[in-house]
Order: sequence, then structure tokens, then C-alpha cells
Amino acid sequence: MTANPIRRLLIVGGGTAGWMMAAAAARFLADGQRSITLVESDAIGTVGVGEATIPPILGFNRLLGIDEAEFLRATGGSFKLGIEFVGWGTERGRYFHPFGTLGRSFEGLSFHQIWLKLREKAGVGDIADYSIAALAAAQGRFAPPVSDPRSPLSGLAYAYHFDAGRYAAFLRARAEAGGVTRVEGRIAAVEHDLIDGSVASVRLEDGRELAADLFVDCSGFRSLLLGEALSVPWEDWSHWLPCDRALAVPTARVDPLPPFTRSTARAAGWQWRIPLQHRTGNGYVYSSGFTDDCEAERLLLAHLDGAPLDAPRLLRFATGRRARQWEKNVVALGLAGGFLEPLESTSIHLIQEGISKLMALFPGRPIAAVERDTYNRMMDAAYVGVRDFIILHYHLTQRRDSAFWRHVGSMDIPDTLQAKITLFREKGRLFRYDDELFSIPSWLAVMLGQGVMPEGYDPVVDALAEDRLLTAVLDTRRANLAAARAMPDHAQALAALAALPASRWPIAPR
Ligand code: FAD
Repeated sequence: MTANPIRRLLIVGGGTAGWMMAAAAARFLADGQRSITLVESDAIGTVGVGEATIPPILGFNRLLGIDEAEFLRATGGSFKLGIEFVGWGTERGRYFHPFGTLGRSFEGLSFHQIWLKLREKAGVGDIADYSIAALAAAQGRFAPPVSDPRSPLSGLAYAYHFDAGRYAAFLRARAEAGGVTRVEGRIAAVEHDLIDGSVASVRLEDGRELAADLFVDCSGFRSLLLGEALSVPWEDWSHWLPCDRALAVPTARVDPLPPFTRSTARAAGWQWRIPLQHRTGNGYVYSSGFTDDCEAERLLLAHLDGAPLDAPRLLRFATGRRARQWEKNVVALGLAGGFLEPLESTSIHLIQEGISKLMALFPGRPIAAVERDTYNRMMDAAYVGVRDFIILHYHLTQRRDSAFWRHVGSMDIPDTLQAKITLFREKGRLFRYDDELFSIPSWLAVMLGQGVMPEGYDPVVDALAEDRLLTAVLDTRRANLAAARAMPDHAQALAALAALPASRWPIAPR
């Protein structure tokens, strides 16, 4: 029990970040003694995009006690087994970045090392045949994971596509029911504590003043408290990730409903396709240094699966993050803290990471420097890990057909990333450092998918009898192919779940 607890918590902003924080606060911080308030401005609105996620979102929903069927109904959501990358390595190439495990380790050896040794043997096939998620996605199928480790389905992991606006509304209902007070109004000024310079209160245009002990800045790109009021500097990463704009446009739902996101490389960036139950989200993420908005719009509209349901919406963004995510008594979440383009659907995840770390380090008064510093160190590592993984996709391209691809394919990259690529190129060695978000199968999918085949493999594999290894590998592939063929169609799986009164599906986030 903290002797002097935080009594007043103010969340500034009601986009995805604000309502995720509010719902978590209602669940874990509402003790009857503490006021939890969220202020947002309808006049300003939200970014409103952010439709693809990664598997840890299941853990977040589960912590909040959210029923999966209810959630999918409310958000128009669908299942996501990974991302298909089209035209990234080469103009005609394509590969799949699946969720979940890859093959089975054998006597402690990483599966991919065994595959590297045996890959040219008859029947071994592509590495993707060892991912149940990749196989199911290619056939438009979905089934939930199972816990029996003998089943290929035990290696499956999944996430969701959903309507971000509907998700925020869904969380808002839960947060308000759990005791969060919503205030509508536009913040006109921020008042500082005269002694230590922390934030004391925010003043609304109509003169109302909202004071708090701890502020969570979810005010979007403007970063009202962390950036503007506390002047925490912005670290620009656009020299590594030059995309700075997006055009977003919905189209009608496609059938059959794909259980994956698609990212297609285009002249000055890439195009997303995110299938929801009621529509498809599409967008073109591009660099204004290499194309203009008119050409970007022309290109996007020329490459849609169906007729647009609305006019394309232009979004401008900067890539980078604030030097510290927690300063004095302000913690920033979402766009207020930083932004990395949505290539690997990581923004909502970084919000979730911020919330869970804030809960784990929830301070008392005065706020201890060690809590703040620990939070900043962990969030720093989270941002850098995601940043490097996204840069990898650009750096490994072999495309040289436009100024954009020539630039990103030849730019300098962070030393941390260069070291990873060098280790992999030699003997296929991959390691997961410091709680990194992306696991070895993810790095492997992108490296191999974009044409980096290691020169050798870990010599430890030679210590095991090759015929035994080969039998195990071929058995694994056969079992995977059979399991994928037996899975239901994605739309059928969604309908079956929707029919359940309450979800009892075995959810196994990894
Ligand atoms: P916002 O949605 O901008 O909300 C800001 C809030 O602050 C609003 O409620 C606003 O009213 C309030 N506010 C601001 N100023 C004031 C003021 N003065 N007074 C009162 N209130 C104020 N993420 C993913 O995980 N997956 C994706 O597929 C994905 N795709 C994306 C595509 C694009 C093109 C972009 C730009 C982002 C994408 N994201 C994605 C990121 C995702 O959209 C954001 O992380 C998410 O929406 C969080 O936004 P936010 O809540 O931080 O900010």
C-alpha cells in the first residue's frame, strides 16, 4: 500500500490510446478513492485509423475481461494470421510474415537451423510450410489454437483486424461503466506547478479547470502535455523511415474474407489492405519527398479491390518519438509519445505496452525517479526494437525501380540492426534480446522472404543423425499441411464464434 497514493488521474485525449488507458484504469485503478477522468474534444476528433494488430492484443482484451465474440461483433473485427508482403524484396516477389511458431525444435536445436541444412532435400519445401498460420492464411482458413502440444494448431497465434473507431467506443462504454468520468471540451491552456514545473491542471476553453496528480497524455500528434507543455524533445527517425503521409480509403468487403493483412510495395511507399467484416480498409503510406499527394491518390485509387466508399483521407505524420515517454508527472501514450509507420501494426501494441508498464510501475506521490527511469528505459527499448524491425523491410529490398526504393535500399541503418543482419547472413543465427517484441520466426520470415539466404548453418546441427532429422522435418510438414486443410474457412469461423453466447474459445496469445 502506497502511503501517499495518486488520488486524481487525468487522461488527456479520447482516441484509441485514451480509451485503452481509461478501460485499463477502470479495471485496475478504480478503488473508490481515486478519481479517473478523461477529457476529449469532439471538435478535434481522433486519427481514426489503426485497424490491424498483433497477437498480444488478445492478452490486453483478456485482462480487461472482454468476451471475444462480443468484441468482434462490436468492432466488425476479423482474424489476422500475419501479413502478406507483395513486391518488397523484388517487384514480383511475395512472402508471408506469419504469427506463431515455426516447425518444432529438435533436441534443443532451432527449427530453422535444421531447415537450413536440409532445405534442398526432396519433400522439405518452403519454410512457410512449417508455419500453420502461413498455410491457413494461404487457404483463407482459420481455427483457434489448441493447447495439446502434439497438434500443429498449438503453434498457431493470431490477432485481429478491427474498426479502430468502434474499438474506442467499445472501450469507452466499459470505462464509463467502470467509473471513468468523461469530460467534453477543448484544452486551451496547461498550468504548471510553480515549485517543480510539473503539470498542475489543464484549462478548457469554457474556463473549467481539471487538476490531477498524474496525467496521461493521449492527445495525439500534438503531444499537448509531454511535447508542448513539458518540452520533451522529439527524436526524428525520418532519415531511416522517410514515409510521412498516408491516404486512407474504405472499400466494400471482399469475399472470401482473407485472414491476413496485405502490404504491397508501391513507387514511393506501400499500400495496406485490411479486411473487416463490414468493409475493407485501404491506404497508401508514402514519402512526400518522392511523390506528391495527387499522384499518391491516383496510384491508390488505381489499385483497390472494389469501388471506394468514401473520398481518400490524407494524414500527415512524423516518424520518431519523444526522448522520454514519462516526464515529471506526465506519461505519454500513443501518438503523443511517438509514431512508427503501420507496416507491422505496432502502434496499438506500443500503447498496450505503455499501459501495462505504467500499471506495473504505478507511482505514489511524490513520483520516484526510479519508477520513471525504469519506465523510460523499457519503452525506449520497445520503440528501438520495433524501429529496427521496420527498417529491415526497407533495407533488404532489391528493388531499384524508383528513386524511393533506391534510397531506402542503400541508406545507412542503425548499428544494432546491421549486427543482426551480419549474424544471420553467416550462419543463420538469430537471437532475441531484451524482451524484444518480434520473435525469431518474425525476423526469419522477413530476412528469408526478402532474399537473404545464410551462407551456412549452425554446425551443431551436424552432431545429430541426418536421417532422423529429415524424418522429423517431413513428418512436421505433413502434419501441418493436413491440419491446415482441415481448418474451416475464415468467414465460417467468424460466424461460428458470433453464434456463441459467450466465447469459450481457447485463446493462447504468444
Ligand atoms: P488520436 O486518435 O489523435 O486521439 C487524440 C485525442 O486527443 C482525441 O480524442 C482528441 O480529441 C484529443 N485532443 C487533442 N487535442 C486536444 C485538446 N486541445 N483538447 C482536448 N482534447 C484534445 N496502429 C496500429 O496498431 N495498427 C494499424 O494498422 C495502424 N494504422 C495506422 C495508419 C495510419 C495512416 C496512421 C497515421 C496510424 C496508424 N496506426 C495504426 C496508429 C493508430 O492510429 C494510433 O496509434 C491510434 O489511433 C492512437 O491514436 P491516439 O489515441 O494516440 O491519438
